Amino acid sequence: MDDGFSPMEDVLDSLPARRRPANPRPRVAPETMARIRLAVYGRDWFACVTCGWSPDVPDGYDGRYALGEDYVDNRGRARCRLLELDHIIPHLHGGLFAVDNLQALCNSCNARKGATHP
Ligand SMILES: [Zn+2]
Repeated sequence: MDDGFSPMEDVLDSLPARRRPANPRPRVAPETMARIRLAVYGRDWFACVTCGWSPDVPDGYDGRYALGEDYVDNRGRARCRLLELDHIIPHLHGGLFAVDNLQALCNSCNARKGATHP
């Protein structure tokens, strides 16, 4: 039965305006995510655009998971290096989650970059 009651909308309406996200991160369907990831990775040659690091790409890779590899750093700690999708214009500044606004960046370059853009 549809009585027009939407609990989530009620919650959002009850929040003071300043607490509401101005630009909520849209939910991305897994198939869309895979397509976008494959398009961005492919365009950027499956490598970090800043440092050039690239992970192994398994045969038949379909974009359904982020590429990366485990390694041990020089202090013997287990680490994971990942090729992430980075917003060129940050989400915070209204940048969209779209192929044109995304680039492949490894997690270590991404951490250094933060929410800055030229
Ligand atoms: Zn990098």
